[in-house]
Amino acid sequence: MKQIQMQDTYINKIKNLDIKKKYSVLTMGCQLNENDSERISGMLEESGYTKTEDLAKANVIVFNTCCVRENAEDRLFGKLGEVKKYKEENGCIIAIGGCMMQEKHMIQKLHESYPFVDIIFGPHTLQKFPEDLYKAIMENKKIEDILDIDGEIVEGIPTVREDKIKASVTIMNGCNNFCSYCIVPYVRGRERSRNPQDIYDEIIDLAKRGYKEITLLGQNVNSYLVSEKSKGENVDFSVKGQDGLVYKVNSFATLLRLINKIDGIERIRFISPHPKDFTDDVIEAIRDSEKVCKLIHLPLQSGSTEVLKAMNRKYTKEQYLNLVEKIKNKISNVQFSTDIIVGFPGETEKDFEDTLDVVSKVKYEQIYMFIYSRRVGTVADKMENQVDEKIKHQRFDKLKKLAENIIEEKNKNYVGKTELVLVEGKSKTNEKVYTGRSETNKVVNFEGNENMIGKILPLKIVSEHMWYLKGKYDNM
Ligand code: SF4
Repeated sequence: MKQIQMQDTYINKIKNLDIKKKYSVLTMGCQLNENDSERISGMLEESGYTKTEDLAKANVIVFNTCCVRENAEDRLFGKLGEVKKYKEENGCIIAIGGCMMQEKHMIQKLHESYPFVDIIFGPHTLQKFPEDLYKAIMENKKIEDILDIDGEIVEGIPTVREDKIKASVTIMNGCNNFCSYCIVPYVRGRERSRNPQDIYDEIIDLAKRGYKEITLLGQNVNSYLVSEKSKGENVDFSVKGQDGLVYKVNSFATLLRLINKIDGIERIRFISPHPKDFTDDVIEAIRDSEKVCKLIHLPLQSGSTEVLKAMNRKYTKEQYLNLVEKIKNKISNVQFSTDIIVGFPGETEKDFEDTLDVVSKVKYEQIYMFIYSRRVGTVADKMENQVDEKIKHQRFDKLKKLAENIIEEKNKNYVGKTELVLVEGKSKTNEKVYTGRSETNKVVNFEGNENMIGKILPLKIVSEHMWYLKGKYDNM
């Protein structure tokens, strides 16, 4: 029996159980994790569960973990302490999934210190959650469902979307790059791309349900189908379009061009690309596809060629800056956002100055900054030249100050201009204020009404603030 049909039988079995069915899913990671959580919620709701934010009332509590950053571990252990008392009070099932569960030392720690956890599963066995849950309920035994090999791509898992306007669509899993600080290739396995017809059909369905913005997800989106190609697989896919025509998809660029044609989808974003794979055909596809936002997330990680080499990033400072120039020359008004790690082992003051230099030159719209934290099992964890914590924090503060100065300066350029804003909903703090995002992902707040939610509106920017812009809709 196919995996997904087998899980349907478990979903039906759980549905028929006469038990209380409330669930909570806590996501502790990146957007890929959030996308996985939507699928865990989907499987639970198909099984008859309804969502509750109140952990004390949940009969199933699922933690979907991430192992990329250290504080995710601290958060998990803190929360496990909290839910232990709910387990004692009402016997709820506690499950932990996500990539942290692929780390052997984590499993060991759970066995030793948190023996009340009922189900442990990994990203490669997510689709088997109904089976694991049914066994935990019926057999009252601990389930450990971890696969050490690369999981297959399973289509057709029920999904409950968190948002009604914007949706993420995973296009590939895993990573082949082995950046020396990163645990992802060890826990998510090698790159596997989804069939473009499945991606296309999923997005058509989202468009029919009123979704306006799609974010394509993957650890390395611009190497979509590259791994398959290198293994000699036939990647010349023929995708049947909604207009009845057949389109060829054999790369990330051709996928972008195809998704750009989907009626109803108005914005396309993607994260994260790798600078080394940012080929000309991808740049041209972004340029030619009017729905693809002209804000490119281009992870820098460090501006120092020496540090980049130690990170195994496979580009130099100059190559990165040349790529930025090339993109700017081909795509008018393009903007950039990035990720930067401060305090990587061996980073000297001169290396850090190189990072500041790139930041000053590129003038990013947004920077996601991280202080380097050691991840067990990575190459960088074994490096002897770890940077002193105090120095890491000093550098972080310096980078933050520079980034904020640039953002403040750039925000001023928005004032007086009209930005197209996708209205996402009401502000949480003021009933009359609505909020949305510009193409460059800036938060824009304005006075509006309920009917505007889900629409792209031209808003005149009247003032700027560090973390948002204030807009005005002239037709009001
Ligand atoms: S590209 Fe590097 S940082 Fe990104 S997931 Fe792969 S190994 Fe990690």
